[in-house]
Amino acid sequence: MGIAVSAEINPQVAEFIGKPRKMLINGKWANAVSGKTFPTYNPATGEVLAQVAEGDREDINQAVKAARDAFDNGPWRRMTASERGRLIWKLADLLEQHTEEFGYLESLDNGKPLAIAKVADVPLAVDLFRYMAGWATKVEGNTIPISSGGGKYFAYTLREPVGVVGQIIPWNFPLLMAAWKLGPALASGCTVVLKPAEQTPLSALRLGELIQEAGFPDGVVNIVPGYGETAGAALAAHPDVDKIAFTGSTEVGRLIVHAAAGNLKKVSLELGGKSPNVVFKDADLDAAIPGSASAIFFNHGQCCCAGSRLYVEKAVYDQVVEGVAANAKKIRVGSGLDPKTQMGPLVSEEQLNRVCGYLEAGFAEGAKAVVGGHKAGDRGYFVEPTVLVDTRESMKVVKEEIFGPVVTAMPFTDPEEIIPRANNSDYGLAAAVWTRDISKAHRMAELLRAGTVWINCYNIFDAALPFGGYKQSGWGREMGHDVLNLYTQTKAVCAKIG
Ligand code: ADP
Repeated sequence: MGIAVSAEINPQVAEFIGKPRKMLINGKWANAVSGKTFPTYNPATGEVLAQVAEGDREDINQAVKAARDAFDNGPWRRMTASERGRLIWKLADLLEQHTEEFGYLESLDNGKPLAIAKVADVPLAVDLFRYMAGWATKVEGNTIPISSGGGKYFAYTLREPVGVVGQIIPWNFPLLMAAWKLGPALASGCTVVLKPAEQTPLSALRLGELIQEAGFPDGVVNIVPGYGETAGAALAAHPDVDKIAFTGSTEVGRLIVHAAAGNLKKVSLELGGKSPNVVFKDADLDAAIPGSASAIFFNHGQCCCAGSRLYVEKAVYDQVVEGVAANAKKIRVGSGLDPKTQMGPLVSEEQLNRVCGYLEAGFAEGAKAVVGGHKAGDRGYFVEPTVLVDTRESMKVVKEEIFGPVVTAMPFTDPEEIIPRANNSDYGLAAAVWTRDISKAHRMAELLRAGTVWINCYNIFDAALPFGGYKQSGWGREMGHDVLNLYTQTKAVCAKIG
């Protein structure tokens, strides 16, 4: 396996990463109050990619103050919904015009293939902003016929923005997660302090420049890069933040809930997963096999909804496992900038060690790798696409989220047995079934305890489709109409008219 790193970098990107990047507070680019910076790395080489201002409590305080002032006193609240919608649409247009540049930033900072970032991450973020721009003018209340007081009252509801929102996002889809968070908050009329992941702050910071170019008033969007335990924790605990929206690990999700308790801020969480992907013997295997491979290997398995538990009906188990393994073997692993690359490195050395640690734990408990099973290459954070067999539900590799390109395959005999096994997880983010029997497919969809169920497909996302978790996979739904509930609150107005 050759890991080629192309030296050809887009000139705008080269300029952007060539200078230390600052944080966006109240419409100005500022250094950290402490003066500190932190490095972000190119995971294909392990080399430092750029230096970024390291936000901490004091920077978060300033950013929250700016967001508070923009919410309480700024032009943002006086703007019409249609003006807000137009700004979000303009941001989408600007982002689309810079697709190439954002593709490079995502590839360099996160490791994902440039070609994929350009056709998936960036266009999905553009779509999300456009979809949310449309909602800005459609946030409506109701009129409500009430019976109290002999009916002499006129009652209605208003849906109002929840206020200052803190948003903490992960590194697996850095730009797209920023869009999932910013789009609905802005459509609802909130103001924001966004903290990107320390591993991948660059695309959010570049997006901040486009937010300014689009013409959002100062302080509406503030972006503070920094570490989770410092900047993230300060944002989650801040008494003047009305709501915190978090995407990341279930472990940190719990910390966020505790931190938010001080002022009982609203909380929404999109957390981990260990999603079951169930293949029945009556499935179209020509679709189910590559579909199951892509369910786990897309984005190097660094998806909270990755199809990491593959359950296959016994009659076709060998065929499906061999097929998924053959797909895994064909995946070209290498630098994200190499046009031939289909899978890049994991995001960081920490993730590499974590995934390799899980592989070792799996082998120690008796799992075997049909393909993969090891670190790949001699520099950068690469792992081989891996299919594990001889796995049982009690094993760590089956129970815990690995967040890497590792799938555990297990056979089942009786279709009735598969529901409790598929649901046997603390998580409930996504699930999939592959079958030609439509009754079985919809029955499974009803019985699977997951926020998303895919039938004969996987990883289909759309700005209009709500996404979020059952059980310990989270609170609330992002995207779709549902997400507006996270960023608005209902006011009941009751007027005596008789
Ligand atoms: P991962 O383990 O996959 O890196 P995390 O849940 O640790 O995912 O990180 C997701 C986001 O949460 C990142 O932006 C990170 O900086 C932030 N974060 C980590 N720890 C905390 C914390 N204690 N409080 C607030 N945010 C945190």
